[in-house]
Amino acid sequence: MSEQEWFTEIFGNSAFSVRYSKKLVDLQSDFQRIEIFESVSMGRVLVLNGCFMVTDKDAFIYHEMLVHPAMALLASPGRALVIGGGDGGAVTELTKYPELTTIILCEIDGKVIDSCREFFPDISRGLDDPRVKVVVGDGAAFVRESGEHFDLIVVDSTDPVGPAEVLFQEPFYEAVKQSLRPGGLAVFQTESPLFMEDVFHSVTLNLGAVFGHRSVRPYLATIPCYPGGLWSFTLCSGDSYPCDPANPASFGRLPVALRYYTPDIHRAAFALPAFAQRSLGQLP
Ligand code: SAM
Repeated sequence: MSEQEWFTEIFGNSAFSVRYSKKLVDLQSDFQRIEIFESVSMGRVLVLNGCFMVTDKDAFIYHEMLVHPAMALLASPGRALVIGGGDGGAVTELTKYPELTTIILCEIDGKVIDSCREFFPDISRGLDDPRVKVVVGDGAAFVRESGEHFDLIVVDSTDPVGPAEVLFQEPFYEAVKQSLRPGGLAVFQTESPLFMEDVFHSVTLNLGAVFGHRSVRPYLATIPCYPGGLWSFTLCSGDSYPCDPANPASFGRLPVALRYYTPDIHRAAFALPAFAQRSLGQLP
């Protein structure tokens, strides 16, 4: 494959490639290299430091599964925070709930926001909602210093390296927990249970140490552009009650016209395969 027409993310000894017709963005911000390709089969593709982040083709799966399971479990959410998520996709999903009065996005790299506003207008459209406030800064500092509290905190970070490393550490988890209103929930993207088993295991263990192991519930979805496809999210309840995701408080409030998330998908996502349960010590 000639380099100039394929982009390849190499992950260890595996790789995922897409053929592209044009490179729309290639810049170095203070934090990372930002590339956007016009690909042939996955639409526009956002790549940060050589890693797939967002594609027109499958972003809806990731963003719906990051946001709607928690929103279905919250009785009357009013305030939400997204940390990372500079593509705007998680914010756009949150704006589908009229009951949310405040949505804050805290993204460390303003150039990611600017690039996605320009080249992913549909995914980032929620950033223009009047309820949305965009903060360009470190999410760990924001939850440590803002003094604000939320019904839902979504952590949509890059992998645990560079500026995102701090978002995978216990002091940050503790600050997130302290930033939740009573009955609030936090959701973290927690990497691949298959290709990053050690990270998946350690993150869920560390989240359990902060939120309580019975209040930490991983769930899965397949995101084709991510290494190995199978991806995990982890839902944490700020209170010490066990988070029972099987019986959402209010499927009735679900926005219309979702493309992936349904009540059945919700229940199925929390049914972990044996290898993932074993990785979490839930099976012998
Ligand atoms: N869905 C993607 C994934 O699972 O890898 C993440 C998408 S989003 C583009 C990730 C964002 O996290 C990036 O724009 C990056 O700049 C941002 N980020 C990394 N570390 C951060 C930090 N400490 N505070 C706020 N944003 C951060």
